[in-house]
Amino acid sequence: MKIVLQNLTKKFPGRSKKLRTDVVAVDHFSFEIPDGTLVGLLGPSGCGKSTTLNLICGLEQPTSGKIFFGDEDVTKLPPEHRGVGMVFQNYALYPHLTVKQNILFPLQNLKGKEKLSKEEMDRRTAQAAALVQIDGLMDRKPGELSGGQQQRVAIARALVKMPRVLLLDEPLSNLDARLRLQTREEIRKIQRATGITTVFVTHDQDEAMSISDWIVVMKDGVIQQTGRPQEVYDEPVNLFVARFLGTPPINILHGTIKDGRLYIGQEAVLDTPALADQEVTVGIRPEGFIPDENGPLTCALRRVEVMGRDISIISAHEACEDSCIRAIVHAENSVDTSSETVRFSLRTNKLFLFDRTSENRIEWRQQ
Ligand code: ADP
Ligand code: MG
Repeated sequence: MKIVLQNLTKKFPGRSKKLRTDVVAVDHFSFEIPDGTLVGLLGPSGCGKSTTLNLICGLEQPTSGKIFFGDEDVTKLPPEHRGVGMVFQNYALYPHLTVKQNILFPLQNLKGKEKLSKEEMDRRTAQAAALVQIDGLMDRKPGELSGGQQQRVAIARALVKMPRVLLLDEPLSNLDARLRLQTREEIRKIQRATGITTVFVTHDQDEAMSISDWIVVMKDGVIQQTGRPQEVYDEPVNLFVARFLGTPPINILHGTIKDGRLYIGQEAVLDTPALADQEVTVGIRPEGFIPDENGPLTCALRRVEVMGRDISIISAHEACEDSCIRAIVHAENSVDTSSETVRFSLRTNKLFLFDRTSENRIEWRQQ
């Protein structure tokens, strides 16, 4: 089921008499979610991710704009008629019911012509449980399950009605690191197996990058960029997106364009013949540095951390916004740790320039 979000806006009225300005939680949001894909909705806390999800499932009504499932306009349709399965951050299982009863619950509530026979309900419950691999735990109560297992029960409960659309709101944030990795792999597998169009909300860029077919990066209710995860990482449209994606994060330095060259501090590091003289913000990914004794950028060497396959070179530069620059290079590179400085040449496809005011990306590479 393709989902089309058309110019969606959601305003919440200002809460107090003093603060009358509305909160614009979602601001002219337009995006088409292709059928059968998993879209990761990514952004910092408070940027409007949950509100967007609530609009898709019908728990909130948009202030303006429309939502289509396929060709059907569902904007005014109540949630129970949208065919949406939703999983929240806190699994919200019924503690006094067994796993089986929890999964069965949404089916028992079906009315009228949607009502199912007992056999059909049991069949679907067993199928959903098998899909998330909790079929061995059907008689337990939620209190007797680990966090990861509880979350899987919640996913089974969302799948049992065979929804057209699956919506997951930060479903992994209550799990510990290892379970989070494992469960996100499982969600990906389940999504592939069922082909259900899925929207996955997270503030964790690593999570979104690893499981999404497409990502949508949001800030203050506004879409910043959409695309394949790798595309967005490789070609960020602005400083916010560049900073938000990637661990360790991108290194940010002050730069100056003068006479067709980019200067960092006193050193000319790059030819930028097409650009006018100006101050710029320079972003360099950790993998954009190549240790090179004849390289154009000189930094003060702080320390070298060996991390198995890679080494991390920590250095400092007066033009850097943060206290240090982190470069990640293959362990076969050797760095003279007794030296006070380290010199780098730069990978041009890992170096981005941004306008100082608008923070939009400035294209400097020649076509
Ligand atoms: P996220 O899920 O990305 O953390 P939300 O969608 O929950 O963000 O919230 C987006 C913005 O809308 C926030 O500023 C939040 O305070 C505000 N907001 C969300 N729900 C309501 C509400 N019911 N009433 C007023 N403001 C709200
Ligand atoms: Mg939220």
